[in-house]
Formats: sequence, C-alpha cells, structure tokens
Amino acid sequence: MRYLILSDVHANIDALESVLAAAPAASWDRAVVLGDLVGYGAEPNAVIERLRGLDPLLVIRGNHDKAACGIDDGRSFNVVARTAALWTMAALTPANLAYLRELPAGPAAVDDFVEICHGAPFDEDHYIFDEGDAARALDTSTRRVCLFGHTHLPAVFEDRVDGTGEVRGMAPADDSVVSFQEGRRYLVNPGSVGQPRDGDPRAAFGVYDAGQQTLRLRRIFYPVAEAQRRIREAGLHPSLAARLAIGR
Ligand code: ZN
Repeated sequence: MRYLILSDVHANIDALESVLAAAPAASWDRAVVLGDLVGYGAEPNAVIERLRGLDPLLVIRGNHDKAACGIDDGRSFNVVARTAALWTMAALTPANLAYLRELPAGPAAVDDFVEICHGAPFDEDHYIFDEGDAARALDTSTRRVCLFGHTHLPAVFEDRVDGTGEVRGMAPADDSVVSFQEGRRYLVNPGSVGQPRDGDPRAAFGVYDAGQQTLRLRRIFYPVAEAQRRIREAGLHPSLAARLAIGR
C-alpha cells in the first residue's frame, strides 16, 4: 500500500491541486490528512470537498480546524490567525462546518508501522521543533514511525543508531527518501501543502510506501500568485498572501 501524506493544506486549493497533479491517484492507494485543512487560505470549502473526494483513509483535525468550527475559541491565536479563523467559519457551508466538527483528534494509526498526529502524539496542539520534543513524542508514539504536522517545517527525527536513546533531527534534502530501518524509531514532518514556512515557497507532501518502508518527501511549484489573488479578493489579511511567496 502507498499512502499520500498531506498536512496543513490551509485552504490553499492551488497548492492542493498542484500536489494532486504531481502525485496522480495511480501513484498511491489511499490519502492520509494530518490536519489544518483550513485557516489562512481563501478556499476552505473547495479544499474540504476536494479532500473528501479522495476518500481518504484518515483525516485528523488541526488547531485551525477546531478554531474554524467553534471547538476552540482561537484565543491562543494571534490576531491575523484569529481573524482568518472567524472569516473561515463564516465562509464554510453548514455541511463543511459539520464535517470539521466531526474530525477526530490524533494520533491515529495508518498501519502496524505508522501513526499520524497533528502536533504531537501526546498533545495534538504541541509544536515539535527540537530534539527534546521529538524524544518525548517518540516515547509516546504507539508506532515506530510517527508522522506529524503543525510546524509547517519538513523535518526528520530519528533515534541514534548508537542506542543511547538520543534523538537526532535534520531538515530533509530536496526530494529525499527516508528508509525506515528495523529497530529504529522515526518522527517525520512532511511539511505543509498550503503554507510552507521553511523559506521554500513550494508545496510539500509525502508518499509512504508500506511495502518498501520508505517515505518520499517532495516539493513542487504551484501557482502562488493565484493563491495570493484569492486571499486578497477574500479580504483576508494581506500578510497571508505575502508570506506564501517567501515560504514563511
Ligand atoms: Zn497548520
């Protein structure tokens, strides 16, 4: 089985369509979504409906999904993010609002080897930035590979081969393949489809091959200017359009 791994689409339909064109349905069996389908971007309904149309195996909620459907009041958000969440709530159809409200919290198991979460396995809203957070996440994960999102930063953490229990983190190289070795544990962020923050504006996603025990991490160009135009025309904060061009 091959799984298309999508995280943090953030209502960016242009990025999502480009990812789906680069990874056509014939190249994977099931889709898996790591949360934050909406928030920041201008096309929340189109993104939810496109993702649902893929008949995904798993979709878990992110903090922006919770804020956009009223599960969370968004008080922890900065003013731009909170304003975008309120805009999203008003823009969503009743059916899509209901869909977001029903999304389960992570973690959730993909198969015997891999689980997914939005932030961390021990707390769906926790940001994993460093080795300390990663070590705690590895210890609380129920699978040897845990895929996460939330930071919008592609990252690979693995426990060290010397058996010290220490964890090593790195930013993956362009279009790299992570080979999961037996006896090791991994924590991987495929990056964000719709709002990358590692200084590279290209959409990020992954393809997990269960038979090969590999995860391919990809970056692709998408029409950023189109996504920016939608944000401006929707009346969302202009900084949400500007950041897409620089990947921050
Ligand atoms: Zn996000």
